[in-house]
Amino acid sequence: MTWNLSFSLVTAVMLCILLGYYALSPRLPIVLNRFFVSLAVLEMLTLASDIISTWMDMNYQDFPIWLLTAANMVYFLLYVTRSYVTYAYTISLAGSRKKIPSFYRVTGVILVSLFLLVVLSSVFTGAVFFIDQEGYHSGPFYPVIYVQMFVFLIMGLQVLIRFRSGIHDSVFYGILASYAILLAGGFFRLAFSHFLLMDTFYMLAIMLLYLTIHNADLNRESRTMLFDYQAFEQVVREHHNVGIRYHLIGFVNCNYKETRQIYGGLQTDQVLGQIGKYLRETFYASTVFYERAGCFLVMTEAKNMQKYVTSDLLSKAVQRLNEPWDTGEIKVYLHFVTGQMSSDLEIHSVDLELEAIRNILEKGSNGEIDRDFVVDQSMIKMILREFTVKKALSEAIRKDEIMVYLQPIIEASTGKIVGAEALSRIQDPELGIISPGEFIPLAEHSGSIMQIGKQVLTKTCRFLSEHGKDLPGLAFININLSPIQCMDQELVETFREVPKAYGVEPSRLHLEITEESLVDTEVLRGQMELLGLYGFAFFLDDYGSGYANQFRIKAFPFSGIKLDMSIVWAHFKDPDTILPNTISAFLGRGLTVTAEGVETEEMARQLTEMGCTYLQGFYFSKPVPMEEFIEYVKKNEEMNQNDTDS
Ligand code: C2E
Ligand code: MG
Ligand code: MG
Repeated sequence: MTWNLSFSLVTAVMLCILLGYYALSPRLPIVLNRFFVSLAVLEMLTLASDIISTWMDMNYQDFPIWLLTAANMVYFLLYVTRSYVTYAYTISLAGSRKKIPSFYRVTGVILVSLFLLVVLSSVFTGAVFFIDQEGYHSGPFYPVIYVQMFVFLIMGLQVLIRFRSGIHDSVFYGILASYAILLAGGFFRLAFSHFLLMDTFYMLAIMLLYLTIHNADLNRESRTMLFDYQAFEQVVREHHNVGIRYHLIGFVNCNYKETRQIYGGLQTDQVLGQIGKYLRETFYASTVFYERAGCFLVMTEAKNMQKYVTSDLLSKAVQRLNEPWDTGEIKVYLHFVTGQMSSDLEIHSVDLELEAIRNILEKGSNGEIDRDFVVDQSMIKMILREFTVKKALSEAIRKDEIMVYLQPIIEASTGKIVGAEALSRIQDPELGIISPGEFIPLAEHSGSIMQIGKQVLTKTCRFLSEHGKDLPGLAFININLSPIQCMDQELVETFREVPKAYGVEPSRLHLEITEESLVDTEVLRGQMELLGLYGFAFFLDDYGSGYANQFRIKAFPFSGIKLDMSIVWAHFKDPDTILPNTISAFLGRGLTVTAEGVETEEMARQLTEMGCTYLQGFYFSKPVPMEEFIEYVKKNEEMNQNDTDS
């Protein structure tokens, strides 16, 4: 039998070029890359043994039988191992974000052991191949070679499809295309076995994997030539899955924005390049990443820490970073602090770990942190809490599950419930009820406050349309608007549409606006005027907690003022004339006054005497779910009825 070696020789040259280039370029320290190297090296060895054994088989007269057997045996063993490594590589790739059940690994190991045994047994049984005086012959079990290849390819494809959600799109299509090439190669080998084509197809598949997955340039930041944040995430996820511990040093730039403004983008980018080079060289045993906004991350495996990253080296590096950087034209001054996250920290989820890092870097580049720091367990706990609240918040928004509690507002002169304040809550299976003090600031930051506002408005309107008739004394419900909501272009439209859809008169909705909102006067006044035209009334919330004053308030069309509980309590702690005078001043201007934080009968009595129009506080009721509120109002009405009857 003769074989055609020409494809194999070209394949060998191309594979050498690819491997050489890969060896010389920087690589991320992840298991997947090591698998890729194993696969490429294995392919190289299989190819070499293929060429050698084929050439020996063609010249069998020149070799003893044992040597021919050994050469062919090595080839077949490598051939089977290569199929298995391709499969193991696929599992590693699919599992970089998810844990893959061990069933897949175990099945792979059992199968490859079986196939290798069949190949090895050929020495005695001639099952797959045998050598005699006339040279090489395929044995009766030769098709096992095809079977094992297709079995591993099909199993690999199954893993890819089953765990598709954990694989990035470009990676998924890259490896899928490689599988298609390998399958095509399998069929070609069946059809044209004397061409030794399988190696060429393998080389093509490896090249495709390189271009779509392992090409380091895909994850490099162009100014610093360092790995980018996406690469960092990939490494963190993998280290977390595999259990590699690492120490992280963040070099946080505190004046990046100003630097760009002062020195210009071009000069700043040039400096970033210099810093990248400096950090790469200084921390040569670590991996350096460029995060963004002038922040760098140095990741060192825990086992290398003591030897390569001493505190001496670290302080020298910070010192150097804070010295001027010369671009040839100007000197650029930067201000860096370090943040360290030790490998001993216990962080259970990788998402939390990444969130903690993002959070800290963000705080650093916003200027909230301006000195060196070490992330400790309490910081992680705080971030975990915030992270869980954020998740609960986005779930609640998505599922329309923002709850509305109602707290009664009492008319001071009659003691009757005339209104309520709508206060939002989130119910989380893990954290229980989460209060707005915790999630409203997060929602303001992320912009989801608009959706919360809309849900609160909708649920309040639904409540009024369903139960308004049964609660004739309930004249209004107050809804809170945060400063960010007040600036929203769609606010007016939403507040026009939703009450209309439920047949609720806008005059029954009182909008509470906090002092902070009074900063951007023009936009706010415009929005208030438009909403006022539809019939909404406005109340200034939290008066006394900030810097609003009578003059400022005069410029806006408020119907009433809500006294913040801090000033109400301050008065009862140390009574004087400030609070009574403030109340009279507002009343004198025709505004209603609501006192918040009324916790005792005595407070209620005195505040009534001072002339407060409405009272609100735990003395009457805490904010309660809507059904409970209905019960409360009815009971209150009955009591009032009994009082007047007797
Ligand atoms: P706020 O508008 O000043 O609401 C009054 C807060 O004081 C409520 O806290 C209420 O439970 C609490 N409170 C009332 N009476 C007493 C009392 O006698 N003693 C004590 N210790 N507290 C009392 P809550 O519900 O935690 O809300 C906190 C803040 O979150 C609200 O302050 C409001 O500014 C904001 N908020 C609540 N719901 C929403 C919402 O749907 N949208 C917006 N934008 N903000 C909201
Ligand atoms: Mg309020
Ligand atoms: Mg308030």
